[in-house]
Amino acid sequence: MTDAELRERALKVVPGGMYGHLNAAIFAPGYPQFFLRGEGCRQWDADGREYIDLMCSWGPVVLGHRHPKVEEAAARQLALGDCLNGPGPVMVELAELLVDTVPSADWAMFSKNGTDATTQALMVARAATGRAKVLMAHGAYHGADPWCTPSTAGTTPNERADLVEFTYNSLESLEAAAATAEGDVAAIIVTPFKHDSFEDQELVEPAFARGARALADRIGAALVIDDVRAGFRIDLRGSWEPYGVRPDLTAWSKAMANGYAIAAVTGVDALRGAAQSLYSTGSFWFSAVAMAAAKATIETLRDTDGIAAMERAGTQLREGLYAQAKAHGFTVNQTGPVTIPWLSFDGDADLSTALHWSDACLRHGVYLHPWHNWFLSAAHTEEDVARALEGTDRAFAETRAHLG
Ligand SMILES: *Cc1c(COP(=O)(O)O)cnc(C)c1O
Repeated sequence: MTDAELRERALKVVPGGMYGHLNAAIFAPGYPQFFLRGEGCRQWDADGREYIDLMCSWGPVVLGHRHPKVEEAAARQLALGDCLNGPGPVMVELAELLVDTVPSADWAMFSKNGTDATTQALMVARAATGRAKVLMAHGAYHGADPWCTPSTAGTTPNERADLVEFTYNSLESLEAAAATAEGDVAAIIVTPFKHDSFEDQELVEPAFARGARALADRIGAALVIDDVRAGFRIDLRGSWEPYGVRPDLTAWSKAMANGYAIAAVTGVDALRGAAQSLYSTGSFWFSAVAMAAAKATIETLRDTDGIAAMERAGTQLREGLYAQAKAHGFTVNQTGPVTIPWLSFDGDADLSTALHWSDACLRHGVYLHPWHNWFLSAAHTEEDVARALEGTDRAFAETRAHLG
């Protein structure tokens, strides 16, 4: 069954044939929708085409597809049972591992998706403070529930009425947002760096991170880091730990279990009682396989220094892309941490050059994305990145020829 045939069938039984970030209407043309297989840093689409995978399933795959240690831990648990009347002992082991690894974590609660975790973190903050308002950066992605989905279709203004926006990296605008909310701020929710789609990424200004911490303390609000995307690719202790800024609550998911469905909120002791007061649960939240996979993923990242491996691969990729772009007469911007990179072309506001180039990359066996950040994994070896760079070089050449 080809990708085209599957799409045609899907159109009849799935609204639009696909939805969310994979919706063909917003996705880049030429991209396959269906995939058969993944191994290490490679994926094969439904047409059997092989790619060096620079998207890592949009974040979850951090050690490479089908990592033996993770698969072994998951299989061992699956042989005993996955979805039982309660969690397996592994729930306690995983919570202990997070508390030992993350300095701002005195406890952990588990769920399934990043949206579960960001939503739950705000519930904890509201339960603790008895306040309603949440300060969030304009344009930031925190999930797909009505309070945070980027499209307002199917939502009511009420569902967002308690959000007050600020500009990322502007302490002045954060202070102004807090002032607007007049003593009713339950939480400041912030991503560890600015990774909004369609625009260059922005690392956090250390002064902004420290200022957000100080403001939260001053007004008695919880500082929530949404580490769903960046978590486990910058610092296992939490993505603002290098700046010495510790949150009250952190939302985790994506890379946590190398592709198995799990999310977590971790928090400080002062919020333990509030966390305990919630009624927050889900039919599949206690499944043991994903917990076993998460434990194996975090231990493997720790024991093999997986982040250092991703940084080497990401640096090689970034340097290679800069050299190629220059050689082909392009000025490009590469932004974000090297482990969560993105490339844009100078003066390409309509993304036409990016779309042409990414489509050419695809045809030369490199899967990356024209308007969303990419992800490296610890499975990307020097040789794999060199192979990816062969594809990107041909793509730059074709894009140059196309533009004349
Ligand atoms: C992906 C993402 C979410 C939502 O996670 P889901 O698992 O898709 O619900 C929340 N916040 C950030 C920063 C994300 O990247």
